[in-house]
Amino acid sequence: MTPSQLVSNAQCIAIKVGSSLLTGDRTAWMGSLAADIAALRAEGKTVLLVSSGAVALGRQRLGLRGSPRLAAKQAAAATGQPLLMAAWNAAFAAHGLTAAQLLLTIGDTEARRRWLNARATIETLLGLGVVPVVNENDSVATEELRYGDNDRLSARVAQLAGADVLVLLSDVDGFYERDPVADPSAALIDRLEAIGTDELAAAGGAGTAVGTGGMRTKLEAARIAQGFGCATLIASGVHDHPLARLRADGARATLVPARGSPASAYKQWIAGTLAPLGQLGIDRGAADALGRGSSLLPSGVRSIEGEFVPGDCVRILCDGRELGRGLARYGAREASVIAGLRATDIAGRLGYSRGDELIHRDDLVLT
Ligand code: GLU
Repeated sequence: MTPSQLVSNAQCIAIKVGSSLLTGDRTAWMGSLAADIAALRAEGKTVLLVSSGAVALGRQRLGLRGSPRLAAKQAAAATGQPLLMAAWNAAFAAHGLTAAQLLLTIGDTEARRRWLNARATIETLLGLGVVPVVNENDSVATEELRYGDNDRLSARVAQLAGADVLVLLSDVDGFYERDPVADPSAALIDRLEAIGTDELAAAGGAGTAVGTGGMRTKLEAARIAQGFGCATLIASGVHDHPLARLRADGARATLVPARGSPASAYKQWIAGTLAPLGQLGIDRGAADALGRGSSLLPSGVRSIEGEFVPGDCVRILCDGRELGRGLARYGAREASVIAGLRATDIAGRLGYSRGDELIHRDDLVLT
């Protein structure tokens, strides 16, 4: 699948804008991204924005050099965040869209109850047609208790929203086999199937002087997204209309597809979920297949209960007995449409497919 097809097929897109794209006068550029987002909205897609830039803008306004002191960073964030939002509000308003500010601290996505709370807010905003503009609440985050970079934050936000595509826009146009600054002959990798230690090592450390993230945090974000069935595009946002460019033929980007192979700690985390958000009743044939190590396909699902989005943990039951738990690749509404269908019929019925499995075996634990 090309970046263009991926964006066209997506229902919900999370877009992360790096600090390097928001320094200097970026009014026209922000307007062009707002126009691209308005176009996606007009196609019926929901869009969230994760915008960095508060610290950089605040430093500029206060005339602070890049002080590493946390208090200075927090003061810069407190000053820059309203400037950032004012700029986004104006950009979206010009296209008839309303923006909403959401400032998260790490506990909002890592503690389940707060996760659900944040998710409800995002769902409500998206339902109201508003574009959530998310950032870390830098002015109160402490050094030990923060995301620290908006790449991984954006992956968690994409997960909160049940996004199917995460677009990481920055001043680099993708992941290169080697550092392209040190070696201009290094080739861009179009598609990165899995992210392991080699890729993370090749990504090196932090990126530009203004942003916190580098390629490494982008790959980490993509790996998180992969784990909940969301594809990631690492692409350049340097020029105007970055999303429209991504949808043009021959667009360059690195695509990390939605599939993953989670480690066992991940499975333990699934098994330990305190509040599964739904349950799937399956037939005996499907139960036998799970016992042999297969994934749960929609064809074996007889009933669906609860409210869940892709990536949420659900119980799997057969004859009223819990067989296991897993992270659903499809949300409750989608699952009720595809329950009982053969895998080959999913795309025909939904208009897209997140894969053949309702719960992939990598995301499934038998209890
Ligand atoms: N949250 C920071 C800001 O708004 C940016 C973090 C990052 O660069 O990833 O300035």
